[in-house]
Amino acid sequence: LRELFAPLSGLGKLTTTLFTAGAAAERVLELLDQEPSIVEKPDARSLQRANGQIRLERVTFRYPDSDRPALDDVSFTAEPGEIVALVGPSGAGKSTLARLLGRFCDPESGAVRLDGHDLRDLKLVDIRRNVALLLQDAYLLDISVGENIGYAMADAEHGDVVGAADAADADDFIRCMPNGYDSRVGHSGRMLSGGQRQRVTIARTILQDSPVIVLDEPGTALDAASLHRVMGPLRRLATGRTTIVISHNLMLARAADRILVLDEGRIVDSGSHDSLLESSGLYAQLWELQQHETAEADLVRTAR
Ligand code: ATP
Repeated sequence: LRELFAPLSGLGKLTTTLFTAGAAAERVLELLDQEPSIVEKPDARSLQRANGQIRLERVTFRYPDSDRPALDDVSFTAEPGEIVALVGPSGAGKSTLARLLGRFCDPESGAVRLDGHDLRDLKLVDIRRNVALLLQDAYLLDISVGENIGYAMADAEHGDVVGAADAADADDFIRCMPNGYDSRVGHSGRMLSGGQRQRVTIARTILQDSPVIVLDEPGTALDAASLHRVMGPLRRLATGRTTIVISHNLMLARAADRILVLDEGRIVDSGSHDSLLESSGLYAQLWELQQHETAEADLVRTAR
């Protein structure tokens, strides 16, 4: 998944922030100009606010110099407001799919559509406005915590920032900081814990209010307690938006309306957590494996 932003390599983590920043969208466009495969059509269409339907139509994608497609004939639809989890073993194609959803690459064949529009026909600024990517490694700028929440929305009032922080369960800890919302977070947000950084970026994304959210391995960088703490905010963020959750963690996938199981670039199964367990396929194997891992981790902790 770290490969997600490969086209913008050299810019490091700054790109993480820019992807979710509506106001910085023009900067993203500049950056994308450096990626020759992503070109906005001269007559690209505007899409102010999408309803949020995401549809993949027989999408195949192959990295240059690779003979095997990373995604092979993948089709699915996520309806507005639906939470769809994408799970699968390493190398299955999950991060490639996330890149396609944000139009950081284009399919070799097939189409990715937002509200029926092929992403290639839309203005890039409108894709960024409508599809927010929230990454595992929350990146913050060395400015105040309030500015970190609000800078994607130039016209946000302080009350809006506080409201978003509250929904992300960040308001309490922010108020306890020496200067409240004016407290600086330090380089890369180092004055905050991983869970607090994650909640600040969730607040930012809530404020940005995109109809489509792509969550890349939310919580991977967090311990169990911090992960538990961000579940409520993540749920609030997902409410009323089309949410694609990419996760190794099947506990997170379990909360989705529908789970798609990817393997070697293909969707091999889909359904609810219970129906996938019953069908005893790859999902059931992954679940079994994860239960063992959790039990082992608990044993190690108890033995300490
Ligand atoms: P993980 O969970 O380990 O991050 P993933 O499910 O996200 O894996 P992808 O990263 O999408 O899988 O990779 C899908 C396939 O594409 C893999 O075979 C991988 O080796 C290949 N791949 C990914 N990125 C590149 C790249 N930049 N160049 C060439 N091949 C790539």
